[in-house]
Amino acid sequence: MRGQPQVRPAEVVAVRTLSPSIVRVALDVPGFESLQVPDEGCVLTFPLDGSTVAGDDVERGHWYTVRRVEGDRLTFDVIVHEGGAASAWARRGRPGDQLSLTYQNSWFTRPDGAEWQLLLVDTTGLPAAGRIAEEAPAGMRTIVVAEVPSAADEQELPGAEVTWVHNPEVVHGGSELERIAREVQLPDGPGYVYVAGEAAATRAVRKYLRHELELPADSYGVIGYWRCDAAAWAERVARSTVDIGELWERAEAEATDEQEALDLYEERLGHAGLL
Ligand SMILES: Cc1cc2nc3c(=O)[nH]c(=O)nc-3n(C[C@H](O)[C@H](O)[C@H](O)COP(=O)(O)OP(=O)(O)OC[C@H]3O[C@@H](n4cnc5c(N)ncnc54)[C@H](O)[C@@H]3O)c2cc1C
Repeated sequence: MRGQPQVRPAEVVAVRTLSPSIVRVALDVPGFESLQVPDEGCVLTFPLDGSTVAGDDVERGHWYTVRRVEGDRLTFDVIVHEGGAASAWARRGRPGDQLSLTYQNSWFTRPDGAEWQLLLVDTTGLPAAGRIAEEAPAGMRTIVVAEVPSAADEQELPGAEVTWVHNPEVVHGGSELERIAREVQLPDGPGYVYVAGEAAATRAVRKYLRHELELPADSYGVIGYWRCDAAAWAERVARSTVDIGELWERAEAEATDEQEALDLYEERLGHAGLL
């Protein structure tokens, strides 16, 4: 994350368990301006154990999708899992807790003329899938294929044709998104595929869409939302002399489109042992 963002205080107004894996959190964020893009994400910084107030160290924050925006009131769905400050806070969070919100961004770039959208996600991508489905333009066909630990994590996604895949191993790095992607029949006509989930799983799906299905580069967007090997990867990055930001900038400068840049970037990250 580059540049200093504006740090916005966010007060928790409601916390409720939505399912065994998901805690829904409502925040008041005075002055929030939405990007008006359905996979809008923000970096949230959570209070550490024993505190009700987030620190101002923005690098400790993590990306979360704004599931719903109503003026200054924002809803987030936080996945609970083993380890992690965000997940730990979600289990004990209460109204009145103070979080902070910094960076905002979006990755969803459905081309004009798309007649359908396929949203292939694990549990962390469900908030984005839900908002993308809700905010779809009239006439857009929305297909969601969601990998969640069990049937208890299913939820209503109005406006979408939904297939649920139950995989308790998804939380331990055993995502089957690539196998699932291979089994999905894409509709005819112009469309857009959005993929969000564990980093290695989504990388494999992107390779499949690009190099086997050979979809046009602007007809899909694939985002790694989390890493099952986060600690080991952070250690490898800390030990490495490679500047990951510079690696990406070089790939972008050499490539003719984002997908080619990602091919170059991932190849070089692999050589550096940083995939
Ligand atoms: C654009 C974007 C949008 C996102 N939107 C959401 C969202 O709406 N809701 C959401 O819950 N997450 C979302 N994520 C993912 C979230 O940022 C990560 O899961 C984050 O790492 C969680 O932080 P933590 O403090 O709980 O765990 P960390 O401190 O990052 O990690 C601690 C340990 O938990 C493991 N871990 C991290 N996340 C998970 C997980 N989901 N399941 C199992 N193990 C995990 C790590 O491998 C590590 O071992 C999004 C990510 C991106 C990039």
